[in-house]
Amino acid sequence: MEIRRGKAQDHPMPRVVDLTHSMSPAFPTWDGVPGLALERRAEVATDGYGLHLWHLDEHTGTHLDAPRHYDPQGLDAASIPPEALVLPLAVIDVRARAARDPDHALDIADLATDEGAHGAIPPGACVALLSGWGTRIEGPGFRNADAAGVMHFPGFSLDAARLLAEARGALALAVDTLSLDPGASPDLAVHRFWLPSGRYGLECVANLDLVPPRGATLVVGASKIVGATGGPCRLLALV
Ligand SMILES: [Zn+2]
Repeated sequence: MEIRRGKAQDHPMPRVVDLTHSMSPAFPTWDGVPGLALERRAEVATDGYGLHLWHLDEHTGTHLDAPRHYDPQGLDAASIPPEALVLPLAVIDVRARAARDPDHALDIADLATDEGAHGAIPPGACVALLSGWGTRIEGPGFRNADAAGVMHFPGFSLDAARLLAEARGALALAVDTLSLDPGASPDLAVHRFWLPSGRYGLECVANLDLVPPRGATLVVGASKIVGATGGPCRLLALV
Protein backbone atom coordinates (compact mmCIF):
# COMPACT_ATOMS: atom_id res chain seq x y z
CA MET A 1 0.00 0.00 0.00
CA GLU A 2 1.43 3.36 -0.95
CA ILE A 3 0.85 6.04 1.66
CA ARG A 4 0.74 9.54 0.21
CA ARG A 5 1.01 12.53 2.45
CA GLY A 6 0.21 16.12 1.62
CA LYS A 7 2.87 18.76 1.63
CA ALA A 8 4.30 19.67 5.04
CA GLN A 9 2.72 23.12 4.94
CA ASP A 10 -0.75 21.57 4.55
CA HIS A 11 -0.48 19.63 7.81
CA PRO A 12 2.94 19.26 9.45
CA MET A 13 3.56 15.64 10.49
CA PRO A 14 6.32 14.14 12.66
CA ARG A 15 8.69 11.47 11.41
CA VAL A 16 7.45 8.04 12.54
CA VAL A 17 9.87 5.38 13.81
CA ASP A 18 8.41 1.90 14.28
CA LEU A 19 9.63 0.47 17.59
CA THR A 20 7.78 -2.81 16.95
CA HIS A 21 9.30 -6.14 15.88
CA SER A 22 7.33 -8.19 13.36
CA MET A 23 5.88 -11.18 15.21
CA SER A 24 5.61 -14.79 14.04
CA PRO A 25 5.45 -18.21 15.76
CA ALA A 26 9.28 -18.15 15.70
CA PHE A 27 9.48 -15.03 17.89
CA PRO A 28 11.70 -15.75 20.95
CA THR A 29 9.78 -16.13 24.22
CA TRP A 30 10.59 -16.20 27.92
CA ASP A 31 10.06 -19.95 28.31
CA GLY A 32 11.15 -20.92 24.80
CA VAL A 33 7.66 -22.16 23.91
CA PRO A 34 6.17 -20.54 20.77
CA GLY A 35 3.85 -17.73 21.87
CA LEU A 36 1.78 -17.48 18.71
CA ALA A 37 0.02 -19.88 16.36
CA LEU A 38 -2.26 -18.92 13.49
CA GLU A 39 -5.11 -21.32 12.79
CA ARG A 40 -6.65 -20.91 9.37
CA ARG A 41 -10.42 -20.68 9.71
CA ALA A 42 -11.37 -19.42 6.25
CA GLU A 43 -9.70 -18.90 2.89
CA VAL A 44 -10.65 -16.54 0.11
CA ALA A 45 -10.47 -19.34 -2.48
CA THR A 46 -12.98 -21.58 -0.71
CA ASP A 47 -14.90 -19.32 1.68
CA GLY A 48 -14.86 -15.97 -0.06
CA TYR A 49 -12.84 -14.34 2.71
CA GLY A 50 -9.71 -15.04 4.75
CA LEU A 51 -9.65 -15.36 8.56
CA HIS A 52 -7.30 -16.76 11.20
CA LEU A 53 -7.88 -17.66 14.82
CA TRP A 54 -4.92 -16.46 16.93
CA HIS A 55 -3.57 -18.63 19.74
CA LEU A 56 -1.50 -16.07 21.56
CA ASP A 57 0.50 -15.75 24.76
CA GLU A 58 -0.18 -12.21 25.99
CA HIS A 59 3.53 -11.61 26.54
CA THR A 60 4.81 -12.37 23.05
CA GLY A 61 6.45 -10.04 20.58
CA THR A 62 6.79 -6.34 21.26
CA HIS A 63 4.37 -6.20 24.14
CA LEU A 64 2.89 -4.48 27.17
CA ASP A 65 3.23 -5.63 30.77
CA ALA A 66 0.15 -4.17 32.49
CA PRO A 67 0.14 -3.71 36.29
CA ARG A 68 -2.25 -6.72 36.40
CA HIS A 69 0.70 -8.93 35.32
CA TYR A 70 2.08 -8.79 38.88
CA ASP A 71 -0.87 -7.43 40.86
CA PRO A 72 -4.32 -9.06 40.72
CA GLN A 73 -5.85 -5.70 41.74
CA GLY A 74 -3.74 -3.72 39.26
CA LEU A 75 -4.90 -2.11 36.03
CA ASP A 76 -5.55 -4.51 33.17
CA ALA A 77 -4.53 -3.69 29.61
CA ALA A 78 -7.92 -2.14 28.85
CA SER A 79 -7.87 0.18 31.89
CA ILE A 80 -4.59 2.04 31.39
CA PRO A 81 -5.73 5.62 30.73
CA PRO A 82 -5.08 6.81 27.17
CA GLU A 83 -3.14 9.81 28.49
CA ALA A 84 -0.57 7.34 29.90
CA LEU A 85 -0.14 5.72 26.47
CA VAL A 86 1.18 8.85 24.73
CA LEU A 87 4.26 10.07 26.58
CA PRO A 88 7.80 11.47 26.33
CA LEU A 89 10.40 8.84 25.43
CA ALA A 90 13.86 8.91 27.03
CA VAL A 91 16.39 6.39 25.68
CA ILE A 92 19.38 5.36 27.79
CA ASP A 93 22.20 3.82 25.79
CA VAL A 94 24.11 1.14 27.73
CA ARG A 95 25.33 -0.75 24.66
CA ALA A 96 29.00 -0.43 25.59
CA ARG A 97 28.53 -1.94 29.06
CA ALA A 98 26.08 -4.58 27.79
CA ALA A 99 28.57 -5.69 25.13
CA ARG A 100 31.10 -6.41 27.88
CA ASP A 101 28.60 -7.90 30.32
CA PRO A 102 25.37 -9.52 29.07
CA ASP A 103 24.07 -9.56 32.67
CA HIS A 104 24.42 -5.79 32.98
CA ALA A 105 21.61 -4.12 34.95
CA LEU A 106 21.13 -0.44 34.10
CA ASP A 107 22.23 1.28 37.31
CA ILE A 108 22.34 4.69 39.00
CA ALA A 109 25.70 5.41 37.35
CA ASP A 110 24.17 4.82 33.90
CA LEU A 111 21.35 7.27 34.76
CA ALA A 112 23.86 9.88 35.92
CA THR A 113 25.93 9.49 32.76
CA ASP A 114 22.82 9.76 30.58
CA GLU A 115 21.40 12.80 32.35
CA GLY A 116 24.82 14.47 32.32
CA ALA A 117 24.93 14.12 28.56
CA HIS A 118 21.29 14.66 27.62
CA GLY A 119 19.61 16.49 30.49
CA ALA A 120 17.07 15.39 33.05
CA ILE A 121 14.54 12.73 32.18
CA PRO A 122 11.23 14.59 31.81
CA PRO A 123 8.38 13.79 34.21
CA GLY A 124 5.81 11.26 33.05
CA ALA A 125 8.21 9.60 30.62
CA CYS A 126 8.74 6.13 29.28
CA VAL A 127 12.39 5.35 30.04
CA ALA A 128 13.89 2.88 27.58
CA LEU A 129 16.94 0.66 27.92
CA LEU A 130 18.97 0.49 24.70
CA SER A 131 21.23 -2.51 25.25
CA GLY A 132 21.72 -3.47 21.60
CA TRP A 133 19.75 -6.72 22.08
CA GLY A 134 17.18 -5.66 19.48
CA THR A 135 19.59 -6.66 16.71
CA ARG A 136 19.75 -10.25 18.07
CA ILE A 137 16.04 -10.95 17.68
CA GLU A 138 16.46 -13.49 14.87
CA GLY A 139 18.76 -15.91 16.69
CA PRO A 140 19.38 -17.77 19.97
CA GLY A 141 21.52 -14.83 21.13
CA PHE A 142 18.33 -12.96 22.09
CA ARG A 143 17.45 -15.39 24.92
CA ASN A 144 21.17 -16.18 25.31
CA ALA A 145 20.53 -19.21 27.54
CA ASP A 146 23.48 -21.07 29.05
CA ALA A 147 23.84 -24.86 29.42
CA ALA A 148 21.72 -24.76 32.57
CA GLY A 149 18.97 -22.83 30.79
CA VAL A 150 19.66 -19.53 32.58
CA MET A 151 19.26 -16.59 30.22
CA HIS A 152 21.79 -13.77 30.05
CA PHE A 153 20.60 -10.40 28.78
CA PRO A 154 20.53 -6.87 30.23
CA GLY A 155 17.69 -5.21 32.12
CA PHE A 156 17.04 -2.54 34.75
CA SER A 157 18.40 -2.66 38.30
CA LEU A 158 15.91 -2.22 41.16
CA ASP A 159 17.80 0.91 42.37
CA ALA A 160 17.45 2.56 38.97
CA ALA A 161 13.77 1.60 38.70
CA ARG A 162 13.07 3.07 42.15
CA LEU A 163 14.84 6.32 41.30
CA LEU A 164 12.95 6.62 38.01
CA ALA A 165 9.62 6.06 39.76
CA GLU A 166 10.15 8.14 42.87
CA ALA A 167 12.48 10.96 41.75
CA ARG A 168 11.64 11.26 38.04
CA GLY A 169 7.96 10.32 37.98
CA ALA A 170 8.42 7.88 35.10
CA LEU A 171 5.24 6.09 33.97
CA ALA A 172 6.77 3.26 31.96
CA LEU A 173 9.96 1.26 31.50
CA ALA A 174 10.88 -0.18 28.12
CA VAL A 175 13.56 -2.72 27.19
CA ASP A 176 14.94 -4.11 23.93
CA THR A 177 15.27 -7.48 25.73
CA LEU A 178 12.75 -10.09 26.93
CA SER A 179 12.33 -8.67 30.43
CA LEU A 180 12.49 -5.51 32.54
CA ASP A 181 14.77 -7.52 34.84
CA PRO A 182 18.08 -8.93 33.59
CA GLY A 183 17.72 -12.46 32.20
CA ALA A 184 19.64 -14.06 35.06
CA SER A 185 17.61 -12.29 37.77
CA PRO A 186 16.70 -14.79 40.51
CA ASP A 187 13.72 -12.81 41.84
CA LEU A 188 12.37 -10.46 39.10
CA ALA A 189 12.61 -7.62 41.61
CA VAL A 190 11.98 -4.86 39.06
CA HIS A 191 8.74 -6.51 37.87
CA ARG A 192 7.64 -7.00 41.49
CA PHE A 193 8.28 -3.34 42.33
CA TRP A 194 7.34 -1.55 39.10
CA LEU A 195 4.07 -3.17 38.04
CA PRO A 196 2.29 -3.20 41.43
CA SER A 197 3.20 0.51 41.73
CA GLY A 198 0.64 1.13 38.95
CA ARG A 199 3.22 1.66 36.21
CA TYR A 200 3.58 -0.43 33.08
CA GLY A 201 6.36 -2.05 31.08
CA LEU A 202 7.20 -2.60 27.41
CA GLU A 203 9.38 -5.53 26.37
CA CYS A 204 11.08 -6.67 23.15
CA VAL A 205 11.11 -3.11 21.85
CA ALA A 206 12.75 -2.57 18.43
CA ASN A 207 14.79 0.19 16.81
CA LEU A 208 15.64 2.21 19.91
CA ASP A 209 18.92 3.09 18.16
CA LEU A 210 16.90 5.07 15.60
CA VAL A 211 15.38 7.57 18.03
CA PRO A 212 17.15 10.41 19.87
CA PRO A 213 17.91 10.14 23.63
CA ARG A 214 15.29 12.84 24.32
CA GLY A 215 12.51 14.57 22.44
CA ALA A 216 10.53 11.76 20.82
CA THR A 217 6.91 11.11 21.75
CA LEU A 218 5.99 7.46 22.23
CA VAL A 219 2.57 6.18 21.17
CA VAL A 220 1.71 2.84 22.81
CA GLY A 221 -0.90 1.02 20.75
CA ALA A 222 -1.84 -1.44 23.46
CA SER A 223 -4.57 -4.00 22.86
CA LYS A 224 -7.68 -2.95 24.82
CA ILE A 225 -8.67 -6.38 26.07
CA VAL A 226 -10.59 -6.53 29.35
CA GLY A 227 -8.74 -8.55 31.99
CA ALA A 228 -5.55 -8.87 29.93
CA THR A 229 -2.26 -8.79 31.87
CA GLY A 230 -0.57 -7.29 28.83
CA GLY A 231 -0.51 -7.94 25.14
CA PRO A 232 1.26 -7.28 21.88
CA CYS A 233 1.29 -3.63 20.96
CA ARG A 234 2.35 -1.40 18.13
CA LEU A 235 4.88 1.10 19.42
CA LEU A 236 5.46 4.22 17.35
CA ALA A 237 7.91 7.00 18.16
CA LEU A 238 7.08 10.42 16.76
CA VAL A 239 10.28 12.37 16.24
ZN1 LIG B 1 5.76 -9.31 29.50
